[in-house]
Amino acid sequence: MNFFKTPSVLKRLYPSLTWDKFQDVGLTEERKIYLTFDDGPIPDLTPWVLQTLKSYQARATFFCVGDNIRQHPVLYQSVLAAGHRVGNHTYHHLNGWDTDNFRYLKNILQCEALLPLERQSEKKLFRPPHGKIKFKQIQQLLPRYQIIMWDILSGDFDADFNHEVCLERSIYHTQSGTIIIFHDNYKAQKNLMYVLPRYLEHFTEQGYSFEVL
Ligand SMILES: [Zn+2]
Repeated sequence: MNFFKTPSVLKRLYPSLTWDKFQDVGLTEERKIYLTFDDGPIPDLTPWVLQTLKSYQARATFFCVGDNIRQHPVLYQSVLAAGHRVGNHTYHHLNGWDTDNFRYLKNILQCEALLPLERQSEKKLFRPPHGKIKFKQIQQLLPRYQIIMWDILSGDFDADFNHEVCLERSIYHTQSGTIIIFHDNYKAQKNLMYVLPRYLEHFTEQGYSFEVL
């Protein structure tokens, strides 16, 4: 699977997870897109993403892997300094389906220790690596986390996925309130470097802004 538009039946099956912001933007009638970047921060690619976002005054949410924050603390600080939001993506990029619940939660808390404190009124953000999380894990996390899934999976991580198709489909399926996933990891680099500036250009021209979750 590369590109994936989340069907509404799946969203209805898991209403406690956040799939999009359609209702929020519907109230304001503003044109907003929620860009998310998973798996960073990493040298070379994350700075390029930051620079590209800056040139469109776009803000985004970065779901960071704790071990990458540990390895690249200065880069991590530059993500925060640019006004982006960061969320938890576990410390070791664990697949929830393959991980016992205690170890999964512990790994999330290990990542959490590296993240900035949120305002008390706000829940922290978590995205399960690979989108794979067990029901019990969801229940354990919900008191402290808003679990962010997606409306559109861009498919950038699949190097065999044609970058033009990746761009076309991402544009076609985006609407105001969409949460879209990109990746600042090396597997995604080729597609991301093609798609991201063009995607930003397209929706900037259409009067959209890019906001943090
Ligand atoms: Zn990931």
